[in-house]
Amino acid sequence: MSCVFVVDTEHRPLDPVHPGAARRLLSRGQAAAWRRSPFTLILKRAVPDAQPHPLRLKLDPGSRTTGLALVTASPAAPAGEETAVDAGRVVWAGELTHRGQAVHEKLVTRRAIRCGRRQRHTRYRPARFANRRRPEGWLPPSLESRLANTETWVRRLCLLANVTAISQELVKFDTQAMQHPEISGAEYQQGALAGYELREYLLEKWGRRCAYCHATGVPLQVEHIVPKTRNGSDCASNLTLACAPCNQRKGTRTAEEFGHPEVQAQAQRPLRDAAAVNASRWALFQRLRATGLPVETGTGGRTKWNRTRRGLPKTHWLDAACVGASTPEHLAVEGVRPLLITGAGHGMRQMCGTNMYGFPIRHRTRRKRFFGFQTGDLVRAVVPAGLKTTGTYVGRVLVRASGRFDVVTATGRRVAGIGHRYVRPLARGDGYAYGDETRGTRETSGSTGGDGNGPGEPERG
Ligand SMILES: [Zn+2]
Repeated sequence: MSCVFVVDTEHRPLDPVHPGAARRLLSRGQAAAWRRSPFTLILKRAVPDAQPHPLRLKLDPGSRTTGLALVTASPAAPAGEETAVDAGRVVWAGELTHRGQAVHEKLVTRRAIRCGRRQRHTRYRPARFANRRRPEGWLPPSLESRLANTETWVRRLCLLANVTAISQELVKFDTQAMQHPEISGAEYQQGALAGYELREYLLEKWGRRCAYCHATGVPLQVEHIVPKTRNGSDCASNLTLACAPCNQRKGTRTAEEFGHPEVQAQAQRPLRDAAAVNASRWALFQRLRATGLPVETGTGGRTKWNRTRRGLPKTHWLDAACVGASTPEHLAVEGVRPLLITGAGHGMRQMCGTNMYGFPIRHRTRRKRFFGFQTGDLVRAVVPAGLKTTGTYVGRVLVRASGRFDVVTATGRRVAGIGHRYVRPLARGDGYAYGDETRGTRETSGSTGGDGNGPGEPERG
C-alpha cells in the first residue's frame, strides 16, 4: 500500500500511515495536509519521543527514469541482513523521469545563438577559447541534472520518513561473482545469481544484439563460440550471445568455421571493468555517501535475479525495490501505486529572449514573483461568469507583471489572460510535475520561446 507520510508539528518524521488512517487524522482535525506531492500530513502536536521504524531507501538509477522505493527494514538485524516479520513492505514508491534531453536541447540552442552572434555584425561578443577549464568532477549538464534530481529526492524523502539506509544499483554486473569456478553451463540456465551476472556481462560486452546477424530486440541465447561438444569451456571468454536461428544454424561449428572470425577475436578481449561502472552512477554513489547514511550497492544482475525470483514484473520502482543483497525474501508490493515525478526545471536564467535568428526581442525583470505567484506554481483559477475565460481551471500558472496570468491545465490546455485575483495557490512550484500532469508542458512553454512567455515575463503593452 502506498502510505501517506506524517511529520509532527516540529517536522520530525513519523511512521508513514495507511491512507485510511490519514483520512481519519484529517477528519478529526488532528492533522493538516503539509505537502501535496508526495502527500504528507503534519500533526498538530509534537511527538518528541517518537521512534519510527527504520526504512531503507532503494534506488535504481536509469538514464531516463530513476526508480525509488521505501522498504521497511528491521532495526534489530545487523546491517545487510534483515529478517524481521514486517521487513519487506514497500511503503512508498516513485518513478522520477529526468529532463536530460531537454537540458541538452537548451544548451544546443544557447550555443547556436552565441556562435551566431560572433559571426554577424552585431553587438560584439568576443571569441572565447582559453576559458575551457573544467573543475574536478565535472559532468555534462544533462547528467548533472539527472544526479541533482535524484539527490533532491533522496534528501526530500529523508525529511519526510525515517530513512536509515540506502541501497543503490551501482554496476551492471559483478565480475568477481562471475569468475567463481562453480559457474557451469547448466547453472546460468537454472537461474543462479552468478548466471544473471554473467548474462548482464555478455549483454554489455556484445552490445545487446546477436553476435552473428546483429539482430536486436529478439530473445538472445548464451552461445559457446567453441561448442561444448568440441571441448569448448564455459568461461566468459568462450561465450557470446546469439539469436535462436543463428545458434541453430551454427550447430557444432566454431565461430570461425561459421564464417565469423571477428567474434572469436573479440571474445578474447575482456570487457574493461570501467565499462561496467558508468560515470554518473559512480558520482551518484559518492553523493549518496555524503548524506552520511550507510549505502549498500547492488548489481544489475542481482536486481534482475531478485525480481524474477519474486515473480515481479519489470517496472522502474519494482527494480528499485529489488536492488541489493539486503532485499527481504518477501516483498509486499500490493496496492502500491508509484508517484510519477517528472523533472520540469525551475524556469530559466536568461534575461534576454531572442527570436529564432538570435536577435534580442524581449527582456526580463529581476523579479520572478508577481502578486504572490511565480511561474510554475500549481493553482486553481475560478473565473466568474460574464468574462471571456469564465470557468474553473486547475494547473500550472505562468505569471506576468500585468497581473494577467496564463494557466496550463493538466491536459495541456492553455487558458490565457486570467486576472490574478481569481487565482488561488494549491502548491508552490518545486521544479517537478506530478502524476498525470502533461509531461513536459512547462518545458515546452519555456523552450519554444516563440510565444514570448518566458518565466516572469514582464508585460508588453
Ligand atoms: Zn542472429
